[in-house]
Amino acid sequence: MTSINSLKLLSLSLILTLASCSKTEDPLPESEAAHWDYEHTDWTDLGYVDCSGTIQSPVNILSMETIKADLPNVSISYSPFPIKIIDNGHTLQVNNNGVNKISYNGHDYEFKQFHFHAHSEHQLDGKSSEMELHLVHQDPNSKALLVLGFFIEPGSANDLFDKVLKNWPKEKEVEQTGTDSIDLNSIIPKDKKYFTYTGSLTTPPCSQGVSFILFKQHLNFSTEQISAFTAVYDHNARPIQPLNNRLVFEDLN
Ligand SMILES: [Zn+2]
Repeated sequence: MTSINSLKLLSLSLILTLASCSKTEDPLPESEAAHWDYEHTDWTDLGYVDCSGTIQSPVNILSMETIKADLPNVSISYSPFPIKIIDNGHTLQVNNNGVNKISYNGHDYEFKQFHFHAHSEHQLDGKSSEMELHLVHQDPNSKALLVLGFFIEPGSANDLFDKVLKNWPKEKEVEQTGTDSIDLNSIIPKDKKYFTYTGSLTTPPCSQGVSFILFKQHLNFSTEQISAFTAVYDHNARPIQPLNNRLVFEDLN
């Protein structure tokens, strides 16, 4: 390993440590303080001051500029749970229903919720995917957030997304419980190589210090499934934010 790579690995562990330890208050809001939308994304104007911070998400990942390294594995222990779902007016979101955990880089994170964006929020070499899935996790001690992100491309239908669409609540902002079982293991790719960097929530309050792990292997949803989502949410994706000297790491495991 060259010294420059050692330095970059050192900075990765520093970044991951900072991301895990810097938060004392809960960065995940229970409810929003002011109404916001995707037509006007200068959310700082609405009082969400973190949205103009310097480590914001999403970003455009340039594959030629990532730091290639042997990164920690994401250790996943999910078990199926009955669906609990809300249409919050910004996306369709499935909430935690029981304890599901992952471990990463020496920290445990509890699964909180997953939700969808169309088109994708992150880009790879300037290219968006049709959709993006975010699985939001939180360290119960430090409150640090970790998001597992998946790029979604048109292809065969996805069983888990079928259950999500089938349970779409008729009323907005009212959480609904269904009998369908959600098994997150079904969407975890066999090849768990990923990109990672430190950013923020991509919605207000844009809390910073969020660890993003974006799997390189995309998921497939059918064009019918994608259309069912975009019929309601066709542009719930925040614009690309400047990288501002941050490093994006690429897993070579
Ligand atoms: Zn998201």
